[in-house]
Amino acid sequence: MIAVRRILLIPRLRLRMKVIGRQVGYLRLYGVECSEHETEQLRNITGENLDRLGSAMQKYVGVGGRIPFIRALCFGRSAPLTDARIGIDSWMARPFSQGCWVSEMRSAIALFSGEISIERVLTHELVHGLLDVLSNGFPYPIAIQEGFARVAEYFLCHDSLSVNRAKDELEKTPQATSSLTDAQFMSIRDLLFFDTDKHWSSRDMLSFVRMTHMGFWMNSFCARCPPDRPILGRILRELRLGQHTNPADVYSWLQGALRMNASDLEDAFRAYCMTAKVPRGG
Ligand SMILES: [Zn+2]
Repeated sequence: MIAVRRILLIPRLRLRMKVIGRQVGYLRLYGVECSEHETEQLRNITGENLDRLGSAMQKYVGVGGRIPFIRALCFGRSAPLTDARIGIDSWMARPFSQGCWVSEMRSAIALFSGEISIERVLTHELVHGLLDVLSNGFPYPIAIQEGFARVAEYFLCHDSLSVNRAKDELEKTPQATSSLTDAQFMSIRDLLFFDTDKHWSSRDMLSFVRMTHMGFWMNSFCARCPPDRPILGRILRELRLGQHTNPADVYSWLQGALRMNASDLEDAFRAYCMTAKVPRGG
C-alpha cells in the first residue's frame, strides 16, 4: 500500500501522463489519460450533484459540518497503467478492477472500463470515501459498507451525478430486477462475519463478489424493514454512536432494532431475497 501511495502522487503522474484536474465541490477530480469523450463524462459531474451526495451521506452517518476535500483519480481506458508502473492493475484485481477507495491516500480510484458507467463507479467509491471520512474510519462490517455503496449507486445516483443514465443501467442489470437463488444466498450472520483477510489472502474473489452482491440485498432489506421506519436510514449512525464494532455485537444490535430474534430475522431476510425484487426509488 505504501508503494501505491508513493507511485500515485499527483506530481509524478503529471510527469508521466496527461492529467486533467479540477475541483468540484469537496472533490478534487483528476482525469488521467482520458479521451475526449471520457473527459466530457467527467465534466458532467457537477458540484450541485456532489453536494447532494455529501449531504445524503452526512445524514446517514449522522455527522454535520464541512466535508474535507477528497480526491478521485479517474483513469481513462487507454491509460498505460502497467507501462507507467502504477502497479495498481494487479493490486486492484477483479472484482475491484473498476474502482477502490484508498483511505491512506484519501482518494478514490476509478477506471473507465467495462460496462458500468464512470458515474456509478465514482458514486460507489465516493460513498466508501465519505463514509470513511465522516465516520473517522469506523470499522463497519465489510458487507454493510459494500452493500451500502452498492445501494447508494442507485439511491443516491438517483438524484446525483449522472443519474438518469445510472438508473437506466441499473434497470438493465438482471440482479436489479430478479430474486436470488439458493446458491447465491448468504445469511445476514454469514455476511456480518465475512472474513475479508481469509478470502483476500486466498484470492477467493468469487466469495467477494458474492458477499458484495448479498450486501446489496441486505441493505435493500434494511431499506424496507420494518415497513413503518426502515432501518437503513439509521444503521450507520447508530452502529457508530453505540460503538458496535464486532460482528456479534452488530448482529444483536440489528435484531434489537428490528425487534426480531435471530431465526425470525434470517427467515425474513431469506423470504425477502427469494421473492422480492430489489426496491426502486429512494
Ligand atoms: Zn465497494
